[in-house]
Amino acid sequence: MTSPIVRFAPSPTGRIHIGNARVALFNYLFVTMHHGRFILRFDDTDFARSTEEFAGSIEIDLAWLGVVPDAIFRQSERIALYEAAAAKLREEGRLYPCYETQDELEKRRKMQQARGLPPVYDRAALRLSDAERAKLEAEGRRPHWRFKLAPGVVEWNDLIRGPVHIDCAALSDPVLIREDGSFLYTLPSVADDIDMKITHVIRGEDHVTNTAVQLQLFAALAPQAPPPAFAHHNLLIGASGEGLSKRTGSLSIASLREEGYEALAVAALATLTGSSDNVQAVRTLAQLGRHFDLAHVSRNPARFDPGDLATLTHRTLALFEFEDVRERLAALDVVGHKAEPLWRAARGNLSTFEDILKWWRVVEGEIAPVREDTEFLAQAAALLPQEPWDETTWSAWVGDVKTATGRKGKALFHPLRLALTGEESGPELAALLPLIGRMTAIARLAG
Ligand code: GLU
Repeated sequence: MTSPIVRFAPSPTGRIHIGNARVALFNYLFVTMHHGRFILRFDDTDFARSTEEFAGSIEIDLAWLGVVPDAIFRQSERIALYEAAAAKLREEGRLYPCYETQDELEKRRKMQQARGLPPVYDRAALRLSDAERAKLEAEGRRPHWRFKLAPGVVEWNDLIRGPVHIDCAALSDPVLIREDGSFLYTLPSVADDIDMKITHVIRGEDHVTNTAVQLQLFAALAPQAPPPAFAHHNLLIGASGEGLSKRTGSLSIASLREEGYEALAVAALATLTGSSDNVQAVRTLAQLGRHFDLAHVSRNPARFDPGDLATLTHRTLALFEFEDVRERLAALDVVGHKAEPLWRAARGNLSTFEDILKWWRVVEGEIAPVREDTEFLAQAAALLPQEPWDETTWSAWVGDVKTATGRKGKALFHPLRLALTGEESGPELAALLPLIGRMTAIARLAG
């Protein structure tokens, strides 16, 4: 394959959620695996609802997920290109002015339905004479503009769904330009895909019908160039079958981040759900990319359970090597010679990354030791060997305590753990003890 170029085209009218992350990651992993380019293209021609703030937050959320665009564009800055595309369509008689109001269209649709006809726009505006148009304009009506679909079936070989056929006779001529002259998404998207030489359009299956229309636009605007390949993936749905809308606040990337879920856990769930691959924790996006394959994406809805994010986060953290998290640890002031051995000892015991602070306090700070049996603990403290300590110290010491006290099993280990860490359970004490050190250990055991 020659280097692919893809785009992720969110509308900056809200925060992105895990379903949007799925689209972004499908595109990103696809081009990363094929050494292509990923374009972030803000679909912000809806001036009333798009904001710079949302665009900025989308960039932040993508960066958190590890999705780094090769280029960023805003459609609001590219209107001249869309005007030129519209002019070309007008010249070819494919873009025509319509004057119906929403109410008039609604009435017509109801009449069609009453007669058992499909609610397809009847092209009445195409039959207006110049004089009738002039009269409507004189009454103050402004036209909206529709694309005249060619009759017939549009076909493509979808990289996920296989051969798709859509009969355009069942579709209304789509409105491309509103009364106020602003563009709907359909035309700018194609004009940009042509201009940016997009090779693959990977997006949700809610766009399948748009693709039929847009393939006609590709043919009208760039008849010489082959259109991009299309892949329409299944959409994430909640456990009870509900779809995700942009307003599903709790599943926004920002709130998942704030709840402490790992970006790679979110990415793995967003990507692998609804495919023939098991949802599993990964250490890097590149590793996720190696699992990812458009051909593995199922055609059934991608049912997912946000509850899986907790387990996935726990498993993801357990996979991280120290160098994966060195900077994040430093940001929490977990630095110095104990940072790396602590990470290795504790990474399998974390629900969220910040839980490392609890274990950092155990080896480097103050805790409240729990002393259940002070006599036993004093005896154990007296048996602590001299330093230097290493990972063999614990078993040698516990062996001595066992011999001296006759205790074994839980009665032996549990009071030591409670006193040394203040916690019921946690990382291996063999790893923690040398980090706690002799002086602190004696203080915690013997008070
Ligand atoms: N803004 C559109 C969406 O988020 C873009 C669709 C496309 O990828 O063409 O659904």
